[in-house]
Amino acid sequence: MNPVGFEKHDHADCIDTALAAIEEQCAKAGLQLTPIRKRVLSILLEQHRAMGAYEILDVLRAQGLKAQPPMAYRALDFLVRAGFAHRVERLNAFVACTAPGEAHAPVLLICRGCAAVAESRADTSAALGRAAADAGFAVERSVLEAEGLCPHCQDPAA
Ligand SMILES: [Zn+2]
Ligand SMILES: [Zn+2]
Ligand SMILES: [Zn+2]
Repeated sequence: MNPVGFEKHDHADCIDTALAAIEEQCAKAGLQLTPIRKRVLSILLEQHRAMGAYEILDVLRAQGLKAQPPMAYRALDFLVRAGFAHRVERLNAFVACTAPGEAHAPVLLICRGCAAVAESRADTSAALGRAAADAGFAVERSVLEAEGLCPHCQDPAA
């Protein structure tokens, strides 16, 4: 399965679909998608790349909001907890989830050339579960991160 994020696709549609799915899930789960949370999520969805909290803050300010760092951090914390975004530890940054709300053990493919992040939907939970079971460990949450070069950065002429 191709990871979302490195392919050409209908991006406007991709943002609308994701936002609609997330709004529906919030309504069902009784989560509040406040205007600031929604705005931060839209910024992440817009990009398909990892963004640091301060970079997001800059965008919010450029949009005319008097946003302070705690505001951005709280919104990001909500989005990560709700499963609408992932934290990219390697980059100390955040990326919108491409399968929001679904229980999954994502593999984040991080391009060191352009910071694009694609989320592979390949299911690693089985292999991880086996490895953990050998150690008698119960996995609750996992995010795998792989660093490398995206198709564009491997061959800019393509
Ligand atoms: Zn898109
Ligand atoms: Zn995800
Ligand atoms: Zn790249």
